[in-house]
Amino acid sequence: MVITSNINSDRLWRTLMELGKIGASCEEAEGVTRLSLSREELEAKHYIYQLMKEIGLDAHMDPVGNVIGTLQGAEPQAPVVMVGSHTDTVFHGGRFDGALGVLGAIEAVRTIKEANIPLTHAIEIVSFTDEEGSRFGTGYIGSKAMAGMLKETIFDLKDKDGVSYRQAFIDAEFNPENYKDVIRQPGDIKAYIEMHIEQAKVLEELDLPIGIVTDIQGPVWLDVTLEGATDHAGATPMTMRKDVAVGVAEIVLAVENIALTYHGVGTVGIITLEPGAVNVIPGRTLFSIDVRHSDKGIRQQMVNDIYKKIEVVCKKRRLTSRIDVKKEVDPAVCSPKIVTLLEETCHALRYPVKKLPCGAGHDSLIMSKVTDIGMIFVRSKDGISHNPKEWSSQSDCAIGTELLFHTLVKLAQ
Ligand SMILES: [Zn+2]
Repeated sequence: MVITSNINSDRLWRTLMELGKIGASCEEAEGVTRLSLSREELEAKHYIYQLMKEIGLDAHMDPVGNVIGTLQGAEPQAPVVMVGSHTDTVFHGGRFDGALGVLGAIEAVRTIKEANIPLTHAIEIVSFTDEEGSRFGTGYIGSKAMAGMLKETIFDLKDKDGVSYRQAFIDAEFNPENYKDVIRQPGDIKAYIEMHIEQAKVLEELDLPIGIVTDIQGPVWLDVTLEGATDHAGATPMTMRKDVAVGVAEIVLAVENIALTYHGVGTVGIITLEPGAVNVIPGRTLFSIDVRHSDKGIRQQMVNDIYKKIEVVCKKRRLTSRIDVKKEVDPAVCSPKIVTLLEETCHALRYPVKKLPCGAGHDSLIMSKVTDIGMIFVRSKDGISHNPKEWSSQSDCAIGTELLFHTLVKLAQ
């Protein structure tokens, strides 16, 4: 069947701007704040739920607050095609991160419904709970619950006001004790597709509206402590020092080098020096290292090289070290079949094709544990995200959503 309908760009834009008002500060510079299960985020969940109802989907919120809207297919037993993202934001975030994926999915499914396009598989739109992790310090809660990866201990985490995750769920009238009811079994989901803003400048530099994600890089986070000796900055000769600041400087440069060598990324984002006085040689430092690569094996080589370098530096400078692995998330590969389908659909729509890796984490990273995933990136102005200045143009959002619409039809027919 030849699809002649198009998504409605103005309608999509209107919903984006409407959702963007929920949790928006009157100070424009403060952007949008919808922390997980806050009053604002619950309002956003209800906004999405109402939209789903309005367009005639079967809508509900599951025990962990995922908002789900289903357009039924002809074969109730067939695995569902899932599409979505999230509506929670970071503190002082923007209007597009997550929101575009949910509202684009709603616009795409609305178009399918209006055009009476027959489907074999149901399409399920999901707005996942707490992707960002900004309130309780850990994210992907809704998608982890669905993938069967949620650990009960998360419910004991507390926000900065001492409210536990369990209490926040109960206050919002969800049933966290039923979190296992949310788990999907292998074969329940045919594919999960997520459209998301790029949050980087690659598409903008290439002057392209959209991109097709090939894989999602998973991070390893290391906390490193170096101990040396705190001495007088004037009285201690250069040859007699155990200065952790010069040690950490060498390691920062090595992280850059290793990332360049392996075509991955490596970042030292936090460095603290103690005692932190202008005339005292620092004797202790704590710093972070974030290492990412789309290949888990290569990422491990990067980490091994960093460990070796730390050992060498410490030996040379007579320092001691301790390294704690704070986080380790497996990278995910997008389904080659879905990447090809997105590519073919771009060709048919006369959109340029650009395949690129994704550096940030998304719900799709988690959903890759239970189903094939695909991701569409939409150009971010100046690459800015997690910031009130986050912006994607109406036409770029519409192009991404048009691609999403055609891809969903092909997957669900
Ligand atoms: Zn996001």
